[in-house]
Amino acid sequence: MSLYFDLSRCVRAVSKLSECTKCVDICPDSIEIVDNIPSFAKSTGVEASACVGVCPTQAFSLSDFSVTEFFFTFIESKVRLISPKINIPCISLLSVEHLISLALSSDETIIMDLNSYYKESILFGHIIDRIEEANFVLSSFSAKQLETNLDDIIPHTPMEDKDDTSDTLSRRSFLGNASLEGVVKHKKAFDDAVEADDLQRFNLDSSIISKIKEKSLSDKRKILFTTLKYAPKPEKYEVISEEDISFISQKFVDESCTNCQICYRICPTGALSSNGKFSLINFDAMLCVKCHLCHDVCEPNAIELQSGFEIKEFFEPKQRVLAKFNIKRCNECGNNFTYTGGEQACPRCMLEEDEASFLHNNAKLMRGNS
Ligand code: SF4
Ligand code: SF4
Ligand code: SF4
Repeated sequence: MSLYFDLSRCVRAVSKLSECTKCVDICPDSIEIVDNIPSFAKSTGVEASACVGVCPTQAFSLSDFSVTEFFFTFIESKVRLISPKINIPCISLLSVEHLISLALSSDETIIMDLNSYYKESILFGHIIDRIEEANFVLSSFSAKQLETNLDDIIPHTPMEDKDDTSDTLSRRSFLGNASLEGVVKHKKAFDDAVEADDLQRFNLDSSIISKIKEKSLSDKRKILFTTLKYAPKPEKYEVISEEDISFISQKFVDESCTNCQICYRICPTGALSSNGKFSLINFDAMLCVKCHLCHDVCEPNAIELQSGFEIKEFFEPKQRVLAKFNIKRCNECGNNFTYTGGEQACPRCMLEEDEASFLHNNAKLMRGNS
C-alpha cells in the first residue's frame, strides 16, 4: 500500500506564502518540504498515513484504502472496535471530523484499539490528541464519546531507539552477499530500492494549475455535514475556544483590509467568497478547513481568527458578511475600485499621477538650477 499525493489539493501549491507544515510535523521522518512543496519517497507507505488524516484539504490518500469507504462499511457493520489488527491500516488515517462523525453515527460506543502503538511515539500522541479533541467537541453538544482500549500499550519506542544507519547497512550488504552471476539482477533490484527511497519531485504543470483553481470540499467535511444533519440539536449552544478545535474556524476582518481580493480568490474550499462587484467578503464557517491560507496571504493581517467557535454553526450554518466595500468607477481609467474617500481615482491611476507630478517637479527644479 503506497502513499498518493494530489498536489493540486495542497495549499502550498496554491500559494508560496502558505506556511502549512501539518503533514511534515506529523511525519518528519517520511515527508519534507522541497522547493516549498511536500515531498516523500516512492516507497513511503502506510507508516506515513497520519498525513492522510491531518491534511486539511485531503491532499494525501493511500493507494488501496479509502477512508470514506471505511466510514460507511464500518457504520453498516456490527463491529464497534476500530483496530489496526482487524479493519484499518492505521487509526491516524481518521481525522477529527471522521472521529466525530463515527461517534455520532453509531448507537453503541466505538472503541479505538491503541494496543499496536508505542506509547512515547509521535504517532501515539497524535492519535490520542485527535481522539481527545473529537471527544471534547462532542461533549459540547452530545452525550456520545469515543473510548480507547489502552490495556496493553507497548511501554517504550524501539522505533526511536533504532540505529538510523540500519537501512543504509542493509542496502550495502545487499550487494555484498550477491554471487557474480546474480549481480546484474541484484544491481537492478538495488537501484530500484534506492530510487524508491529517493524523494519525489512534484511539479506544478498546467493540468495541476487548472485543478488548483477549482474550489472543492473534502469528503471528510461532507461526511461531517451529513452526520450533523441527523444529530439531535442541543438545548443550548456552547462556544468553545478556537484553540480547542483544529478543523474549522470562525473569522473576522478588521479595518486594515484593502479588499485586495486575494483571500477569497485563493480559499481552496470557497469558505471565503465575494459577489460579482467584489464589494464584500462572505464567510461560510462550515466550509472552512482551518488551512490558514487566507491568513498567510493577507499582507495587512486583516483577517483574524475569532477567539471562540460557536457550536451553533454546526446546526444552523450561516454565511456571514465579514466586510463591505464602497466600489466606485475610477474617473481616470473607468475601472471599478474600492473607494476609501478623497479623489475618485483607483490606486493605479493615483500612483501614475504621483509619479507624473514627481517627474514634473524634478524637471522644474533642474530647469531652475540650469
Ligand atoms: S498538510 Fe496538506 S495542505 Fe498542508 S502542506 Fe501538507 S499536503 Fe499541503
Ligand atoms: S482580508 Fe486581507 S487578503 Fe482578504 S481582501 Fe482584505 S486585505 Fe486582502
Ligand atoms: S477560510 Fe481561510 S482557513 Fe478557511 S478554508 Fe479558506 S483559506 Fe483555509
